[in-house]
Amino acid sequence: MVEEIINNNENLKQQWEQLCTQLKNELGEVNFESWIKPMSPGDIKNGKIDLFVPTNFMRNWVVTNYSERIQMLWKSFNENISDINFIVNPGAPQRIFRRDGTTSFSRASSVANNSINSPKTAPITNNTKVINKWNSISETLASLSAPLDPRFTFENFVVGKSNEFAYAAARKVAEGGEVAFNPLFLYSGVGLGKTHLMHAIAWHIKEKCPERTVVYLSAEKFMYKFVQAIRYKDTMTFKEQFRAVDVLMVDDVQFICNKENTQEEFFHTFNSLIEDNRQIILSADKSPSNLEGIEGRLKSRLGCGLVADIHPSTFDLRLEILKSKEQQSGVCVPEKVKEFLAHKITSNVRELEGAFQRVVAHSQLLSGCEITLELAQNVLKDMLRAFDRRVTIDEIQKKVADHYNIPQREMRSKRRARSVARPRQVAMFLAKQLTSRSLPEIGRKFDRDHTTVMHAVRKVEELCGIDNSLAEDLDALRRNLES
Ligand code: ADP
Ligand code: MG
Repeated sequence: MVEEIINNNENLKQQWEQLCTQLKNELGEVNFESWIKPMSPGDIKNGKIDLFVPTNFMRNWVVTNYSERIQMLWKSFNENISDINFIVNPGAPQRIFRRDGTTSFSRASSVANNSINSPKTAPITNNTKVINKWNSISETLASLSAPLDPRFTFENFVVGKSNEFAYAAARKVAEGGEVAFNPLFLYSGVGLGKTHLMHAIAWHIKEKCPERTVVYLSAEKFMYKFVQAIRYKDTMTFKEQFRAVDVLMVDDVQFICNKENTQEEFFHTFNSLIEDNRQIILSADKSPSNLEGIEGRLKSRLGCGLVADIHPSTFDLRLEILKSKEQQSGVCVPEKVKEFLAHKITSNVRELEGAFQRVVAHSQLLSGCEITLELAQNVLKDMLRAFDRRVTIDEIQKKVADHYNIPQREMRSKRRARSVARPRQVAMFLAKQLTSRSLPEIGRKFDRDHTTVMHAVRKVEELCGIDNSLAEDLDALRRNLES
């Protein structure tokens, strides 16, 4: 009876508030806000009080750093308390790490319920350490996400037969609620709208549910961060960062093919997020089953949610996209010109957009000269010729090797002698200029990473200005490849 009166919920709440005031004084505002405030007291049974913590990560932290002090303080208010159960409870407010480095609390979306008793020898906090750790997690999480393109919204996405399924799936995921399919796996050829849809999902969530943490990053960045974590022996923090994420999007996962370590890590991060009911969205240039160099277990896991592909665009869709671009740009483009573009540039939407912009820019630069079919044909002459005859990286490597009289295998070799390194750089430069391949894609053809390609492109550009014979070589090669 006495215990009931002392320990009814109201009393426990009051005691908790008193305790909070005390802890705030002891630990300082930042630590208090970060670790103590999100907790709330539950019931007491046989002298053991339940304290709810929003996530596993926080529970571990609090148990290690504050449990002993909390227990002591609570005992001083209420001698019936003998122990504290720290319980992970999805109902407790959860810390949100934002991209801009700010934080707030929301309801947690995960459900876990493992309680533990506080260890006997938990150290009392070391303020600086806590603040540093805390800052480093929120900073790293903020820096993980790549910037989102403001143009890539659902409103700006034109829907047609070829992409309606992927669009509907993306919308469903963005609207949240019950996690319907996890992961959502989007795949298509290059330039058909995967990244656009992923950004659109992120924008939508940011607008409708700003408390949800969305991280969008390329598979390359994921890999890079992981390799960095291994280098600094800090894979724990790496994992923790991702646990604070509600929606994780990884773009172009084909780039983690053949990287066994990263795959393994990706697999674990991915599994634990799915188990935690977090939404995952992935994209690639092939379906999960067709991805080469990806371990079977990971493949089947990637495909276990919803797999949605975007087909090559149709003439009608291309025309609609051009109409939407026209509206956005506020420039009137004759129907005939739009039809011409939609007929001619069928490869992908990125190139279609590029062509449209070129025509519009041209007419504007020539102080408002009218956009006509002739103007479009003229402006796009080079581009269309290149489309008529696509150059491949293999061809470039072969022609460059022939030109410099070296074996083609040197394109991929590790040799750094000038006689092979310079032709290799020239080939990388031409691959960047004459194909629509991305730097990492080019890099892979040379067994190098994208930074090497970037360096090569800059180097050749730089040398072109001072080295006439190199400029002539490039001209001849370009003509040869485009003829
Ligand atoms: P992917 O990631 O599949 O290579 P992106 O999402 O980067 O392709 O799309 C390339 C370009 O084409 C972007 O500028 C994007 O806005 C545009 N785009 C692709 N599909 C559509 C569409 N259905 N409606 C409007 N723009 C589109
Ligand atoms: Mg993309």
